[in-house]
Amino acid sequence: MVFTVAVLLAVGSIAFTLLVRGKDIPEAPAVLPTAHLEQRKAQIYENLRDLQFEFRLGKLSDADYQKTKVDLQRELAKVLAEIDAIQPAQSKAAAAVVQSKPKPDGRTCPNCGAKFAQVMKFCGQCGKAMA
Ligand SMILES: [Zn+2]
Repeated sequence: MVFTVAVLLAVGSIAFTLLVRGKDIPEAPAVLPTAHLEQRKAQIYENLRDLQFEFRLGKLSDADYQKTKVDLQRELAKVLAEIDAIQPAQSKAAAAVVQSKPKPDGRTCPNCGAKFAQVMKFCGQCGKAMA
């Protein structure tokens, strides 16, 4: 009887925890557009490592090793190019954010970003004109 109560309590608290946790867990973050490519890249790197390992063990002939390696590297280059093709759009968006700096106020150097307590004609940091 005591055992049954203990089991019920345990099950109850687990169920409770699951219910509460289910609400608290935030939605999964948006998957990066390059996620599947990054995965593919990691896979190719792993294959390359395995290949090298097997070659060192003498399981592969030099010709087989070279051919498979070239194949994998070609595939890797393709994946990297695809990642590159997707990423510039993202870095452009990031660059746009960086460029929306406050207007020059004579206290923040537009060249190097150094800040000064008073209005300066020339940057004390890099020597460029502050205007
Ligand atoms: Zn400066």
